Amino acid sequence: MPTALITGITGQDGSYLTELLISKGYTVHGIVRRSSITARGRLDQLFHQEDVYNKRLFLHYADLSDVTTIRRILLKSTPDELYHLAGQSHVGASFEIPETTCEFTAMGTLRLLEILRDLDKQPRFVHISSSEIFGRPDQSPQNETTPMRPVTPYGVAKAFATQMVTLYRESFGLFACNAICYNHESPRRGESFVTRKITRAAAAISMGLEKTLSLGSLDGRRDWGYAPEYVEAMWRMLQQPAADDFVVATGTAHSVKDFLAASFDAVGLDWEDFVTQDPRYMRPSEGTHLVGDPGRASKSLQWTAETRLPRLAEIMVQSDLDALLASRQR
Ligand code: GDP
Repeated sequence: MPTALITGITGQDGSYLTELLISKGYTVHGIVRRSSITARGRLDQLFHQEDVYNKRLFLHYADLSDVTTIRRILLKSTPDELYHLAGQSHVGASFEIPETTCEFTAMGTLRLLEILRDLDKQPRFVHISSSEIFGRPDQSPQNETTPMRPVTPYGVAKAFATQMVTLYRESFGLFACNAICYNHESPRRGESFVTRKITRAAAAISMGLEKTLSLGSLDGRRDWGYAPEYVEAMWRMLQQPAADDFVVATGTAHSVKDFLAASFDAVGLDWEDFVTQDPRYMRPSEGTHLVGDPGRASKSLQWTAETRLPRLAEIMVQSDLDALLASRQR
């Protein structure tokens, strides 16, 4: 059976991807950044399954800047497929820590590509890129040929990484793909992203645990899909006869207000009664008209995003309600 290596295995996508690959019979190796707090909650179900942890799922400590260790892990695990998900993924935070963002997201990707270039047995490689590379595009929806015009430090770092992946594919013959993913959400989304912040607050407010929700700009529009479906697209890319770049998106944009309405509707409340705006959450600049054209993914990968608003918000609110109820009963 095939072996996969995942950077960023403890994140939202890493955990869903691991579940998908384990269900397909893969052996999975994951790279975990060492920190004083162990953040592996999203992999919990797998740790509790018999015959998985340390049998078909192995975790290794390394930082993306730790070239020697990453090379050693690659040489030891000899993966058939390498999924590169790791990076500082919060756009808002990238304005506060632009150097760290570029260090992990841009240089981290280049370092991986450099290691791959020297390997005798090169795994198929997919880099999880982002709609943020398009920033303020001239055309909407965007596809794989839309020029990159990032307007956030995160977008700039991702544009660098994306272009490097294409360059290594074309210049050194690596089987290297870019999955240009638009926003994808789930109950495992970090709580500082707007969707999860909203669904958690809608659940808490409906239970009387909180009174208000403080947000930044409500005018932003995003193309929001469902993360478990997006990791399926990543896997399909690596099963193709040739490497390519793919936009992974629903093709429909919604505003933050639409997401608020869907989430508060799910608990029978009107969001306008609870939301306040706080300049702390406003960004110096942000992308606009970000909506993806998933035509190539649909044609070549036979992939389409099924779960959209309002269903997406309902799934997330329900999960947050369940979690709050469980913690109340403890
Ligand atoms: P992004 O597309 O990766 O930046 O995803 P986010 O979930 O962080 O933000 C999506 C949109 O929500 C952006 O237009 C933000 O400006 C907007 N937004 C409004 N209030 C907030 C907030 O309190 N937190 C975050 N993260 N985003 C917010």
